[in-house]
Amino acid sequence: MRDARYDVLFEPVRIGPVTTRNRFYQVPHCTGMGHRYPRSEAAHRGLKAEGGWGVVCTQEAEIHATSDITPANEARLWDDKDIPALQLMTEAVHAHGSLAAIQLAHNGLHASNRYTRLTPLAPSAVVVDSDDPVQARAMDKADIRAFRQWHVQAAKRAKRAGFDIVYVYAGHDMTLLQHFLLERHNQRSDEYGGSFENRLRLFREVLADTREAVGDSCAVAVRLAVDELLGAEGLRHDVEARDIITALADEPDLWDVNLSDWSNDSQTSRFAKEGYQEDYTRFVKRVTRKPVVGVGRYTSPDSMVRLVRQGHLDLIGGARPSIADPFLPKKIAEGRLEDIRECIGCNICVSGDNTCVPMRCTQNPTTSEEWRRGWHPEVITRAGPVEQHLIVGGGPAGLEAAHVLAKAGHEVIVAEARRAWGGRVSLESRLPGLAEWARVRDWRMGQLQGLANVQLYLDSPLEAADILDYGIAHVALATGASWRRDGAGRMHRKPLGFLADAPVLTPDDVMGGALAGRTGDVVIFDDDRFYMASVLAEVAVAQGNRVSFVTPAAVVAPWADHTLEQARIQRRLMALGVTIVPLHGLAGYGAGQLELACVYSGARRFLACDTLVSVTARRPNDGLFQALAARAGDWADAGLARVTPIGDCHAPGLIAAAVYAGHAYGRGGGAEANPLREDRMLADEAQTGGSALVFGANAL
Ligand code: ADP
Ligand code: SF4
Repeated sequence: MRDARYDVLFEPVRIGPVTTRNRFYQVPHCTGMGHRYPRSEAAHRGLKAEGGWGVVCTQEAEIHATSDITPANEARLWDDKDIPALQLMTEAVHAHGSLAAIQLAHNGLHASNRYTRLTPLAPSAVVVDSDDPVQARAMDKADIRAFRQWHVQAAKRAKRAGFDIVYVYAGHDMTLLQHFLLERHNQRSDEYGGSFENRLRLFREVLADTREAVGDSCAVAVRLAVDELLGAEGLRHDVEARDIITALADEPDLWDVNLSDWSNDSQTSRFAKEGYQEDYTRFVKRVTRKPVVGVGRYTSPDSMVRLVRQGHLDLIGGARPSIADPFLPKKIAEGRLEDIRECIGCNICVSGDNTCVPMRCTQNPTTSEEWRRGWHPEVITRAGPVEQHLIVGGGPAGLEAAHVLAKAGHEVIVAEARRAWGGRVSLESRLPGLAEWARVRDWRMGQLQGLANVQLYLDSPLEAADILDYGIAHVALATGASWRRDGAGRMHRKPLGFLADAPVLTPDDVMGGALAGRTGDVVIFDDDRFYMASVLAEVAVAQGNRVSFVTPAAVVAPWADHTLEQARIQRRLMALGVTIVPLHGLAGYGAGQLELACVYSGARRFLACDTLVSVTARRPNDGLFQALAARAGDWADAGLARVTPIGDCHAPGLIAAAVYAGHAYGRGGGAEANPLREDRMLADEAQTGGSALVFGANAL
């Protein structure tokens, strides 16, 4: 039963010519699927509609071949042949009574056109914003007319594909329309550059074009970045963004407002908490009568109600919360708040898009697997008879496996050696900024506790003999992994003998409190290249040490670029006074001095070092597996049928990978045993001839 306090969230909202059934609005977000994996994309979006999101949007949809951001997998509407793929999505969304929205985009100087090899287009002749050695040319009047025409054509195609809401998009420093708005990108001296009115001209024109093209039956939404967090160097919410929205106040049917660039819009929980955008978006409803949607990684219905009651937002935008739990609206509707799988703000989803593969989610292992493996996040069925399962280890892999098996109706015992559940997430969530990661444990414990077919035992370190004594047929070993202390990793493939006599701590030691009480010169050696070393540097600083950060990489935490955190991490360490020594490996240790070697020249330098925190790689805790394997001859008599290592115990990786492995095991046998369908493009093999793509003045 729904709590009446939340009724307001289920009121319909009129958006121009269409009406959404409630206030839950899945704003545009990338999936890493897009045009390349259209069935997977459609199934993913359709599931959101099934879960109660009243509006479900695509990611950005490239409107033309001059906006080619290959190898990213975005949506495409280059020509008519792109319509069927998008139609799959609108049908999937409409099947559940939701509205489908499409975010049309021309990427301007953000597109290098690596595939099409067309010359990128921009307001002025500038270098593109990637590292590609490519320059965009300044659009002339014919180009501007052509661009307007492409946008109109794309809007009409979107309507034919069945979309209800069509976006005009100026955000994330990624679109031509925003490039025209911004002084730093637009150095034109004609009527499209210079003054505020001139820079706004193209935006105004495209908005009017879109309304004329499809506005009779489709709502026309504007997505606008209202602040770039660059101060006077960029767009500010209280200066130009306010002027833009005031100037166009009631022209669109909906304002979708956010921050730019993407790293500001989608900050991780390490750097920003729920609702961090509110100070920037609060003004919008004061200057327009049209509905406003905004995001803030909202998972709490109380926060959502507050935003509506305070007149801050009309629609609660969600991207990451809708990935972590596509059924969030439905769970609120059914009064099942404890079942909401809250996003932890880790941006592993974003890393999928940034590495051009279907996204994955730490909390929701079924993400992107809705079509491919046929996984539904809320439906877990049992194919065969009820079995007994023993899960050894109560970290993310073990808890996920247990909860999936239990939901399928199996008898499950979980034995955990420690006095607390959660394994590595419990330890890591105590590190600076990572508190929300505990949600990985808490949600799973919430699902498991109280189930009659589950027995949970803490303080129960099991050995091979115990497991044979239990005589349970199916055993999953989710015993995790331990950080190495010998320096071996990416740079140093073999253990470093000189570390045997050095004062080395591993991340496990530090998380166990080993740094406490030691002060002096702490050197963090990071060859892991993601988050761990930098959070340990924060711990070391907080404990009063002089801290140096040595890495063979060129920057701190390079992989964190994929989670949009790299620059923030580096800035934070610099602000904390950490000495950063990039491009160095370890060469020796003696008399309180760590010897470093330049990765290019081998040139040596020395650093004072009382404690070395070595963050390189982990070893699977597979001793139990080996011990059981050694007694394979006893299994049949003991009643053991199958012993499966899962998660970090199988191969150390991200928390998301451990959850995924646990889920796959719970569904039956592990990832390899779950059928994997290959999604192919809705290629036009049956059609003859190439696309008749037109560009430049030829389009007129
Ligand atoms: P994963 O990420 O694969 O879930 P974790 O390291 O987070 O791995 O969790 C592994 C858990 O397994 C830890 O909580 C650890 O205490 C527990 N564990 C390890 N060995 C045993 C054992 N022999 N018996 C019971 N629990 C164990
Ligand atoms: Fe949230 Fe992390 Fe899942 Fe993304 S991957 S939706 S940030 S829990």
